[in-house]
Amino acid sequence: MKILFLDQSGQIGGAELCLVDIARPFRDNCLICLFADGPFRKLLEEKKIPVRVLANRSIRVRKQSSLMQGIGSIGVFTPMVAKVAEIAWEYDLIYANTQKALVIGAIASLVARRPLVYHLHDILSAEHFSTANRRLAVTLANRFASLVIANSKATQTAFIEAGGRPELTEVVHNGFDPAIYHIQIQNSPQTKQHLGLERRFVVGHFSRLSPWKGQHILLEALTHCPDEVTAILVGDALFGEKQYVEQLHQKVVELGLSKRVQFFGFRGEVAPLMAVCDLIVHTSIAPEPFGRVIVEAMLCGRPVVAAAAGGALELIESGKTGWLVEPENIEELADAIAICYHNPMLAKNIAQQAQKQAIERFHLAAIEQKMTQLLRQVIDFH
Ligand code: UDP
Repeated sequence: MKILFLDQSGQIGGAELCLVDIARPFRDNCLICLFADGPFRKLLEEKKIPVRVLANRSIRVRKQSSLMQGIGSIGVFTPMVAKVAEIAWEYDLIYANTQKALVIGAIASLVARRPLVYHLHDILSAEHFSTANRRLAVTLANRFASLVIANSKATQTAFIEAGGRPELTEVVHNGFDPAIYHIQIQNSPQTKQHLGLERRFVVGHFSRLSPWKGQHILLEALTHCPDEVTAILVGDALFGEKQYVEQLHQKVVELGLSKRVQFFGFRGEVAPLMAVCDLIVHTSIAPEPFGRVIVEAMLCGRPVVAAAAGGALELIESGKTGWLVEPENIEELADAIAICYHNPMLAKNIAQQAQKQAIERFHLAAIEQKMTQLLRQVIDFH
């Protein structure tokens, strides 16, 4: 199987990390084309996955932009479609990993007469996308895709509710190699000391800094927690949310949390830092499409509290494998942190249960097998 993967981003987000895992088994017979240069290209080179950057300038259509703004970028789209179609002749299948990749991949699949697979990592709802972009994604997927891989039931449902054809869809959760998360856990006490976090109850938040990821909710919740409770924010603004980053720093000062909050920026490996946490929280204020960090925290054997919406509902059974709290509810989040702070044995038991379940449900080997089978079927039926 020769696969041409397309991704619009030069940055390393959840969709891109998932793509690394999907493309790795095909690395002798695949190419990943990016529509923008950046750290993602370097990561793929490190992993020895063939990569080519098709444009140094990214295509300027944001998730919330209107169709007219989208049409404004047509000068970039047309040559890109031609380039992708030309490359696609050498491959059996085009695999679009993001929405802009779908737009270009759809037309290129028509020109090159290759089947198209669309990996849906987003919830196609008004909270995340403009009406025009939702319509565009659904229309193109319905018309051109042979398969839509939804990364959760939540993304599948939203796709169907937006008019997507149900029979095209298959839910495949992200896969993870448990060994990566297990080995790192050994470093925990030394790392905690090194970071000046000993004798602290460390609450970790691992996500790009963005208003909808809700880091501000955690800061507010901290003011209701005992002084020993300290937060580490791991991640950076990936898509121009600099203003939000400034607001977060300002809020830390305003709330008197300067000694209880640390910003770590983006980290290539999250497991060593997850290992120093007593609890990991997820605070998205809009439904999370999947929530890789939730599974990663579980694999690290750390208790997790997550906002009860979207994919998080499929990952956590509240009170059994973590805790779910109402999105944006500061008091509920603070209460859940307090439960873990005051009941370390309970938190440990729940984390162990979650770790066991996560290894069973999200093992990379099983996900790889399922993906290979699905892609093989698409090629055989074309
Ligand atoms: N992540 C990372 N370094 C950081 C912060 C986050 O590698 O400093 C990773 C995180 O471990 C997870 C991914 O970025 O694998 C984010 O995926 P998620 O599904 O949680 O959110 P998305 O970015 O897709 O909205």
